[in-house]
Amino acid sequence: MRRPGMMIELDRCVGCLACVSACKERWDSGPGAARDWVRSYEHGKRGEDLGVTFYPGLCMQCSEHPCTAECPTGATYARPDGIVVVDPQVCIGCGNCVPMCPYGARHPDPEKKIVEKCNLCAPYVARGEQPACVQTCLAECRHFGDVAAPDSEVSRWIRERAAKPLKTAEIDVGPNVYYAPAADREVLIANGALKPTRSAELTRIWKGVTRPLAQFGVPGVGLLAVLGGAMMNLQARRASAQAAREADHGHGAEPTAIASKLPDELPRHRFGMRFLHWFNLVSWILLLVTGTALMSTPAFALFGTTGPAAIAKLFGGAPSLIRFHVAWGLLWAVVIVPFFLVFKKGGIEALREIRMTRDDVRWLMLKPWVAMGWSKRPLPPQDKYNAGQKAFAASALAGTATIIASGVVMSFHLGPAWFVAAMILVHKLAIAVALMGLAVHVTMAALVREERPALKSMVTGKVPKEHALSHATKWAEELAEKGSGRDDKPGSAEDE
Ligand code: SF4
Ligand code: SF4
Repeated sequence: MRRPGMMIELDRCVGCLACVSACKERWDSGPGAARDWVRSYEHGKRGEDLGVTFYPGLCMQCSEHPCTAECPTGATYARPDGIVVVDPQVCIGCGNCVPMCPYGARHPDPEKKIVEKCNLCAPYVARGEQPACVQTCLAECRHFGDVAAPDSEVSRWIRERAAKPLKTAEIDVGPNVYYAPAADREVLIANGALKPTRSAELTRIWKGVTRPLAQFGVPGVGLLAVLGGAMMNLQARRASAQAAREADHGHGAEPTAIASKLPDELPRHRFGMRFLHWFNLVSWILLLVTGTALMSTPAFALFGTTGPAAIAKLFGGAPSLIRFHVAWGLLWAVVIVPFFLVFKKGGIEALREIRMTRDDVRWLMLKPWVAMGWSKRPLPPQDKYNAGQKAFAASALAGTATIIASGVVMSFHLGPAWFVAAMILVHKLAIAVALMGLAVHVTMAALVREERPALKSMVTGKVPKEHALSHATKWAEELAEKGSGRDDKPGSAEDE
């Protein structure tokens, strides 16, 4: 297999920096950014063997390329020909890969807001040219070519000068840049030319907190919700059998005065709210699928790397995938944010509808026991939305705002690398927490029979009177007081 690499004769380098300026010009890097560099190290003693060794450094195109393992977006990857590259369209400039390189060969470009590194001038080499640094080296100390082919020119140089890569017994990631002679190579190593790889804070927190939460917390909460839902159905069936028996014995509930003031169906959700609900659902599915597919590197993949790779392929590659993810995320924000801002009575009204009352807190504490049949105490009366729905809506609102804000920072690289890295964690944590709420919400809506009318109302906009009377008593009373059972007239507290 081909392995592009380089051989550098340290004893011919004169430290003129022609290679560095040629590289900067070709790749428009810096100031403050360096795809390659030349450092100098003094050694020996005054009056004896004092000398200076120049260290022309660059990405070593390592066969193990540890820098690719902890990129959260898959922006940095090894091409089939072995050249390790950063895709500028996918890199979000988080800097997570920087401490993973033992040679310090990656640098965050302060202007481009991405991380850059040497790619051996791959596009130019493909056209038959040499890398810029090789072309420009006045001392002709750089030799480029296929280091895996024994008869290549670079391999002959390696053999002739007994060149070896910069590596030690402890730090060896398969570098493919060779240096000679041995004495100068030792000077570079002694002066810290390579350091052990280190995971950045983002990877450590991801592995220790966020990933376990996503892998086990979300399915765990979902499973609990399914079990809880099944138990609630069982309990509801028992309660309705009991009610039927009481009705047979003439003890059935009499229609109340409130019930007689209400029509058979009550308007619960206007078209706008229903549209927003289903648009939200579609957006969550699309963003989750594409977002999960973007986490394609071993350290960040949630359920293996095969699925993410297949989805990325479906979208035509990682750059198209990230473009779709960002575009749909922005569409989501563009639909949601104005929707709430132009809400009939504004966001304040929406917040009022999901405001927790003392009854709601008592309901939240009692409901699990009643639902399981472990308590016979009556539940406190509820508003249009019960306390569970209010809690979910509040957390969904907070989660959505956090996800959108952190996503914007990542997409447009707003701020320094540490801030973008922190936003990746915030983004993923908010998604994991929101998913837990979503798992309960979706399970309750899809599985629990007594919630079916509420789910149906997200399609038809209406709920049966009986459901409102038993599940949203305060709201039903309010409507009865208004007289018509319609709550869309001016001054109502209804949704839109
Ligand atoms: Fe990656 Fe650094 Fe090796 Fe280059 S030198 S392949 S950036 S680990
Ligand atoms: Fe990947 Fe972040 Fe490095 Fe870019 S800066 S290559 S996104 S780890």
